[in-house]
Amino acid sequence: MTPAPMKFCPRCGSDGYEYRDSKYWYCPSCFFTYFHNVAVSASVIVAVDGSVLMLCRAKDPQKGMLSLPGGFVDPDERAEDAAVRECREETGLAAAGLRFVGSWPNDYAYKDVCYKTCDLYFSATIGSGLADMVLDPREAASWRLVSAEELDTAPIAFESHRRAIRAFFETAHSALPTASSAGL
Ligand SMILES: [Zn+2]
Repeated sequence: MTPAPMKFCPRCGSDGYEYRDSKYWYCPSCFFTYFHNVAVSASVIVAVDGSVLMLCRAKDPQKGMLSLPGGFVDPDERAEDAAVRECREETGLAAAGLRFVGSWPNDYAYKDVCYKTCDLYFSATIGSGLADMVLDPREAASWRLVSAEELDTAPIAFESHRRAIRAFFETAHSALPTASSAGL
């Protein structure tokens, strides 16, 4: 199974172009090699009243399902900057105070190409609050908050997002003072 319908070598035109080791194309005629490397995405996890801000996707893949504000990292861009940029582009909100939550792999299918991704997640705050949100209708049709109790059943577009939010909730919960540590 190749991640994209590429039948001919883009350098010599040979029809022997092969996809190897789930990583790269190779041309036995002219030895041209092209690595289909993992793509990096970056998203923000913004907590509001104990829930997480999610967007209803306005476009494929997974149109109509929920994802976090985020997107692919551009060439020569830091992942942190990509997360802030994508959040601003999609919601108009200024994410700040980023803290790395973790990374999880994902498959992202777009126009006959399957990209293996490494999705990076950062917790973030939005100083202005949700009142200033202005959704880009090309990216997000609406927004909603997803609580820890809803996490397993909410229509989340990508399993990597669900895993990241679960880790975020677990970390946030463990960071709260327990009855014993609070001296109660
Ligand atoms: Zn070739």
